[in-house]
Amino acid sequence: MLLGIDLGGSKLAIAIAKPDCTLIAHETRPSQLSGDPDADLAAIARSAADLIARSGLSASDFEAAGLSLPGPIDYERGAILDPPNLPGWKDVPLRARMGEVLGLPVRLENDANAAALAEWRYGAGRGSDNLVYLTMSTGVGAGLILGGRLHRGHRGRASEFGHTCVEWDGEPCACGQRGCLEAYLGGAAWTRRLREITPRTSRVYALAGDRTRVLPQHVVAAAGEGDDFAQREMERFNHYLARAIAALSFALAPEVVVLGTIPSAAGEHLCFEPVRALVREQAWPSLCAEMRIVPSGLGAQLPYYAGVCVAREA
Ligand SMILES: [Zn+2]
Repeated sequence: MLLGIDLGGSKLAIAIAKPDCTLIAHETRPSQLSGDPDADLAAIARSAADLIARSGLSASDFEAAGLSLPGPIDYERGAILDPPNLPGWKDVPLRARMGEVLGLPVRLENDANAAALAEWRYGAGRGSDNLVYLTMSTGVGAGLILGGRLHRGHRGRASEFGHTCVEWDGEPCACGQRGCLEAYLGGAAWTRRLREITPRTSRVYALAGDRTRVLPQHVVAAAGEGDDFAQREMERFNHYLARAIAALSFALAPEVVVLGTIPSAAGEHLCFEPVRALVREQAWPSLCAEMRIVPSGLGAQLPYYAGVCVAREA
């Protein structure tokens, strides 16, 4: 059996799967991180042990565990360095510590890489050799499958495409730079912007109930209802997303670009159709002709597959 764990700043997804990655049991709960990695790891292990016991299994039934989490990761030492979305987790030797508490060999993977693996093997990218996965949850992550294998770059430092500068002297980013893609497409950055500029007259404001509660999902819903402000915000989002995809297409020529989170929630009409049209305007026809831009094929199950795919690679 394989144990998959996907740890995010707000959610913890745990899955049990057969060696071929068929899911047997899974659950998602709030991650409720305290900032003390030892206490947090013990809590994660308790949640995993709980699911294993409820499934009528024991730790000895498992070959390996996979842990998908926000990077950056030092793959040689099996350590997480200083993830902006997991405060307090600085330079933690996770592979060893998690291995001890679970009693299993553990493999770590950056969450965008893990999601790319999952979409490639079981989701929207099956059968392709060159895939880009882009996620726009709290931040912006990119996972790359190039030439039929996961591309991590030198010392595993790839996947940080979200910090590519797309505007000179642009918006400040959580990483300390300015004008990063993440400062325009990331859920956290967009939420901050919306809470500053959403007009009281907008449907977005009404759906949220208050400006301090506005989220990107309110923009998606209001844009679907034809709200002017929400449609302008979606246009801006699509513009930056298309810019990112065009840049990636020139560098990598992917066959499939899989978009998770906000685009998947927004759907064809509000996001994918306009983004495909914008990419066609910006990238050469020879690159666009066979490049598919599609939503996640695994949807809500993606975090489970991400974790077990990492375990399977172990
Ligand atoms: Zn940045």
